[in-house]
Amino acid sequence: MPVTRTDVSAFVNARAGDLRTHLADLIRARTVNPPGDEHRAAAVLTDFCRRSGIPFTTHEKVPGRTNVVARVGPGRPRIAVPLHLDTVPAGDGWTTDPFEPVVEGGRVIGRGAKDDKGPLAAMMLAARFLKEREAGLCGQLVLIGAADEEAGSTLGMRYLLEECGLEAEAAIVPDAGHAMRIIDVGEKGLLHLKVRAEGRQAHGSEPERGASALWPVVDFLGRIRSWRPPGPPNELFTPPTLNLGAIHAGSVPNMVPGLCECLIDVRYLPGTDGGAVLEHLRRVLAEVAAAAAGVRLDLEVLSHQLPTLVDAGHPMVAAIERRTEEVTGRRPLRRGQSGATVAKFLILRGTPAVGFSCGPEGVEHAAGEWIDLGELAQFAEVMTLVLLDLIGGGQKV
Ligand SMILES: [Zn+2]
Repeated sequence: MPVTRTDVSAFVNARAGDLRTHLADLIRARTVNPPGDEHRAAAVLTDFCRRSGIPFTTHEKVPGRTNVVARVGPGRPRIAVPLHLDTVPAGDGWTTDPFEPVVEGGRVIGRGAKDDKGPLAAMMLAARFLKEREAGLCGQLVLIGAADEEAGSTLGMRYLLEECGLEAEAAIVPDAGHAMRIIDVGEKGLLHLKVRAEGRQAHGSEPERGASALWPVVDFLGRIRSWRPPGPPNELFTPPTLNLGAIHAGSVPNMVPGLCECLIDVRYLPGTDGGAVLEHLRRVLAEVAAAAAGVRLDLEVLSHQLPTLVDAGHPMVAAIERRTEEVTGRRPLRRGQSGATVAKFLILRGTPAVGFSCGPEGVEHAAGEWIDLGELAQFAEVMTLVLLDLIGGGQKV
């Protein structure tokens, strides 16, 4: 019997109670990072897998910082759906207990409701549906509950990809969602730079006896202030940016500062050569240094992440567009992101990955984080249909 859209819809609606329970259990499993304690939310996911007959493995780089990898379906392609088990701290301003979910007018309120426990609860429903029809699948859903996303993913997705041999042919990352209205198909390149100047300290009444570390940096910053990484514009992305994040130098007026450090964030578009961006900044710094006697100037790259862009013709993108429009009545827009997510780690390792999720904008990391259960059910439906398109082995839906 071929699966129909109505089957998926009926399944999700009949399990509205499960959706709520999964989400409530996940919110109660306190996984504030740091310290993380992802084993608590991992237990919710592995219990569910055991009850549903879904095989899984767990992976810990550090004890208690658990990652779960669950698999439904026999073969290829493998579509990874990584969600994260950790949350940011509660912070201030809550009117309810952030770790005791409250349901109000169809919304669940609690830390992690949107980021990322709600989408995980929805994916548990999708996994269950696919498990019940596993015989008809040709590919595989790789459902991942990852640790440490809020602190750089060293113990989570990066560990799974770099040390645990996690592989997939494509990935959909349900994080930082925009109410299913946007598909994040790329990310800007990112450079974090430190400029350091070392001069000679002296009394402020005789500055000629010293060599100010601060003036050459001011000169450098003035020269790059309105410069932006060059390159072809891309309608998916906002323009490239340069941000001066910090300057540390000096302390009192009557002293020549001998040390100055500043931190700069540069974001550039796909199609721009990151090496050329660095080369330009180094050349400007060298010109400044040539005019600053007695001061040593250095530029250090603290981190460099390359830009990424998924092929617009990838079937995953078309499937998300079509199924979202069917279920919600709105076709999501393709867009490039300014920030960096785990999609970047996947793409740079050769796995095409897009960001796509549900939930209202601006509630993640805020007090009173919430998600609408109806929207979550729609998301479960969309993701189930998308996965059937990609791993269903030509089953007509
Ligand atoms: Zn998140």
